[in-house]
Amino acid sequence: MKFSTRAIHIGEEPENTQHGDVVSPIHLSTTFAKKSIREVEEGYVYSRSGNPTRDSLERKLAALENAKYGLAFSSGLAAESTVLLALLKKGDHVIAFDDLYGGTKRLFNQVMERFGLEFTYVDARDFENVRRAIKENTRMIWLETPTNPLLKLADIKGISEIAQEKNVIVVVDNTFASPYFQNPLSLGADIVLHSATKYLGGHSDVVGGAIMVNDNELYEKLKFHQNAVGAILSPFDSWLVMRGIKTLAVRMEKHEKNAIKIAEYLEKHPLVEKVYYPGLPSHPQHELAKRQMRGFGGMLSFELKGGLEDAVKFVESLKIFALAESLGGVESLIELPAIMTHASIPKEEREKVGIKDSLIRVSVGIEDVEDLIEDLERGFEAVRR
Ligand code: PLP
Repeated sequence: MKFSTRAIHIGEEPENTQHGDVVSPIHLSTTFAKKSIREVEEGYVYSRSGNPTRDSLERKLAALENAKYGLAFSSGLAAESTVLLALLKKGDHVIAFDDLYGGTKRLFNQVMERFGLEFTYVDARDFENVRRAIKENTRMIWLETPTNPLLKLADIKGISEIAQEKNVIVVVDNTFASPYFQNPLSLGADIVLHSATKYLGGHSDVVGGAIMVNDNELYEKLKFHQNAVGAILSPFDSWLVMRGIKTLAVRMEKHEKNAIKIAEYLEKHPLVEKVYYPGLPSHPQHELAKRQMRGFGGMLSFELKGGLEDAVKFVESLKIFALAESLGGVESLIELPAIMTHASIPKEEREKVGIKDSLIRVSVGIEDVEDLIEDLERGFEAVRR
C-alpha cells in the first residue's frame, strides 16, 4: 500500500471490529473483565498498559514511518522523556543538535541532567562535528531535522552510519517534516519521534506524542516504560490523532505549496534580511533536503531588517495568521522564537545558534495563499509606518 492508503486503512480494519466499524470506536473503559482467572493474562487488562483505540492508532503510526512498531504518548515531550528513561542510565552521554525545540533542551538541561545524563550540543549540519563529539560513554545521538526554528538539516544517513560503528542509538525528531515527507528509519535511524500535536493531529485540537521503531529489543524497552512511566495518550485523543492522520497527505501537499509561494515572496521582499526554508535553492542544505526528504514541508522562518520592536509590530498587525505557539495545524500561525517558543533557552545560547530577536517563525496553513500573502503585506506596512 502507498502512503495515503496506509494512513487511512491501517489500524482501522472493519473486519477486526465487532460491528464492522469503518472508523475505530473510542474505547473508554479503563479496565477489562475476564471470564476466569485463567484469562487474566490474556488480551486487554488495564488501559494504561493497553487500550484498543490506542492500539489502532499505534498500528497506524507504525504504518506511516514504514516501522514495525508505534507507541502513542500524552505529548511529544512525554515521548521524549520515555525514550531517555527507557534507554539511558546515570553517566550516559547524549550528543544533540544545537538547534532543537526549546522544550526539548529544557527537558535535557533542567530535568534529565539532574538524573546524571550528560548532553553535548553540536552543529550537526556537519556530521564530522558529531563524530568528534563521540566519547566512551556516548549512548545516543539526538537530531531534529529540519530543526525548530532555523530549518537546519542533519544528514540522517551519514550520522546513522557513524553511530552504527560506535553502537550509538540515533533518535530523530521528525515533527517538522512529517512522515509524509521524510522517513528517518529508512535512512538508518533507530527511533523516530513526533509531536503528534503538530502535523499528525493537524487541527490544533490534541496534544500527543509518537515513537516509531523497527528493532524488537528497543520496542520492548519502550513499551515497558510506556506503561511503567505512564505518560500514555487517552482513547479520545488517540481517536483525534487517527482522524487527523487520514488527511495528512493532502494537508502536507497544500502546506508545502503555500510555503513555497510564501518563501519566494519573502525572499524578494526589501524588508526581509533572510529566509530559512529548505525548499529554496538559496538554503545552504537544499541539495541534502532534496536527497533525504520527499518535500520541504510547511515551516519557514525569516529575519526582518530591524529588531525585536519591528518584529513585534509585524506579528501584532496580522489578521489571518494567529500569533501563537505550536505548528502543523490547518490554520496559519506566526510567532517570535526569541520571546515565545525558544524563550527558555538563554539569550547568549540562542544567539550562538543564530536565533535573533528579529526572527519570525511561520507555520504556513492550508488557507488560500493569496490571502496569506495579503496578510503578510499588512505586517510589512505596519513596520514601514
Ligand atoms: N519536537 C518539536 C520539533 C516540537 O516543535 C515540539 C513542540 O513544539 C515538541 C517536540 C514537543 O511536543 P509537545 O508540545 O507535543 O510536547
